[in-house]
Amino acid sequence: MTPVTVRVPAKVNLQLSVGPRRDDGYHDLVTVYHAVSLFDEVTVQSADKTSVRVTGQDAASVPAGRANLAARAARALAARLNRRRKSGVQIEIRKRIPMAAGLAGGSADAAATLVACNDLWDAGLTPAELREVAAGLGSDVPFALLGGTAVGQGRGERLTAALAAGSYHWVLAFAAGGLSTPEVYAACDRLRAARGSGHEAALSTELMAALRSGDPAAVGPLLSNDLQPAAISLRPDLRRALAAGPEFGALGAIVSGSGPTCAFLAANAGHARELAVSLTGSGVCRGAVRVRGPAAGAAVIAAEPE
Ligand code: ATP
Repeated sequence: MTPVTVRVPAKVNLQLSVGPRRDDGYHDLVTVYHAVSLFDEVTVQSADKTSVRVTGQDAASVPAGRANLAARAARALAARLNRRRKSGVQIEIRKRIPMAAGLAGGSADAAATLVACNDLWDAGLTPAELREVAAGLGSDVPFALLGGTAVGQGRGERLTAALAAGSYHWVLAFAAGGLSTPEVYAACDRLRAARGSGHEAALSTELMAALRSGDPAAVGPLLSNDLQPAAISLRPDLRRALAAGPEFGALGAIVSGSGPTCAFLAANAGHARELAVSLTGSGVCRGAVRVRGPAAGAAVIAAEPE
């Protein structure tokens, strides 16, 4: 069968409102996801046994084999299809999304694998059916299928496309090393318990209105992330990076998801270029890239001829 390649975007959270910890250990969330043009590529082809090969960014640290979310996605789709025979796939991941960076790279690879295997096996699952399988794999996986800008509720998996106008120029500033998402949530719980604070998760109607206007100057000051204090408590150096953005004219500066990547909103493409150079030059990050949002969700880019 012909190999299938899928391109899938990273995400940032324009708002991440975290409610109290639930009995099942998860937190109720309301989040505004935004897919950006930093892509992983995943190629699948039929094989006797399922295997995963990772190249590119952080390749040496990304788990290979069964622990990789992409392999779990292929198995979950085969189970959903009751596909017992010929369900082995060789999965090749070309990573550009750093690992454990708050950009949902693992979730992206899982989403890409679902789309790729659905195509490879000619399974014909609809986008809604794929999103159901995706929700069983992780909170951020359904959004990586959908892309664009969307509101996520529950653990983040219940999605509604957002009415957002315009396109946005961002700079992503990468930190050395990653942060574990469960550890950041645990730190958030500790900080809240110590302060006796906490609240129900709620959508910012001001942010949604700003997104409808398509004006980055309106969106910038409304970016918010309840996990940011927790991420900073684990990585105090993030404070310097976040402060540097506005010094170089960023319209907004925020930790992406559970961090440690910081996302800076620029006024336009030219400003994003200057911002990336200034942030890298100032030494507050290990590197910075310019990206645009919203980007499309996971999609087949090539079915190579045999
Ligand atoms: P989250 O989606 O939980 O916010 P994140 O975006 O910060 O996480 P990911 O890059 O998704 O980080 O990695 C989270 C963990 O998932 C890693 O520590 C890694 O061990 C595991 N993992 C499994 N498969 C993959 C994959 N294909 N790419 C990256 N990480 C993976």
